[in-house]
Amino acid sequence: MEKKEMLYEGKAKRVYATDNAEVLLVDYKDDATAFNGLKKGTISGKGVINNRVTNFMMQILEKEGVPTHFVKEISERETLVKKVSIVPLEVIIRNISAGSFAKRYGVEEGIVFAEPTIEFSYKNDDLGDPLINSYHALALGIATKEDIATITAMAFKVNEVMKKFFKGIGVDLVDFKLEFGKTSDGTIVLADEISPDTCRFWDSETHEKLDKDRFRRDLGNVEDAYQEMMKRIMG
Ligand code: ADP
Ligand code: UDP
Repeated sequence: MEKKEMLYEGKAKRVYATDNAEVLLVDYKDDATAFNGLKKGTISGKGVINNRVTNFMMQILEKEGVPTHFVKEISERETLVKKVSIVPLEVIIRNISAGSFAKRYGVEEGIVFAEPTIEFSYKNDDLGDPLINSYHALALGIATKEDIATITAMAFKVNEVMKKFFKGIGVDLVDFKLEFGKTSDGTIVLADEISPDTCRFWDSETHEKLDKDRFRRDLGNVEDAYQEMMKRIMG
């Protein structure tokens, strides 16, 4: 597979065309941003960790019957994925209160929910990824009713698989963000990444944060937390 022109440079990854029109190459950077790009920095080694962790999780999910964009890891930082048309929704699942949920509703972090929650943000940097509901998504033509039903069911399934997996490595899966896309034949698959950038991970015993909140909140030992998560996940 040949790496061709860069199609897109995002905050955390670069996306390249390949000689196969159905396949893209994703290259993970060490760049880190938070608060809608206001806070910028680097987390040394993050690109390697997020690439490897994402691919590991995507393969677990595939085994459990969740279709993903994953094709093949080709280097420490580079992976081939199925080219999809991204549904411009950030799909957020929560098991425990934290982050914007705690802030918005004026509750402390760490409340364990009886049932997981789902919410959608409209993926639009200029608007700051505003929270939207499924009716708004329909009205805006972002997705169809069927798409939203499929995405919702897949997101909860991903949560069940991941919650169990992380429990087994002594980590509470607090919340996470997913993105979905449509392949050329219209199939909805899980896309983008699953990593300490996009999930909140708390040590089950100590409740230590092992994710991007260490960067967002200047808690220190950011690199160590990412390394620790990779070690626990991949052995
Ligand atoms: P951002 O765009 O938020 O800065 P990234 O730096 O992670 O994020 O850039 C990666 C981009 O690639 C995102 O816009 C993401 O939606 C998109 N993407 C992820 N997986 C695929 C895929 N399989 N096909 C097409 N685009 C994808
Ligand atoms: N998240 C993400 N990208 C975003 C926004 C959120 O990956 O643009 C993840 C974040 O890492 C967390 C979950 O989604 O695991 C919920 O984030 P929240 O809504 O609490 O927002 P934040 O506190 O990050 O502003």
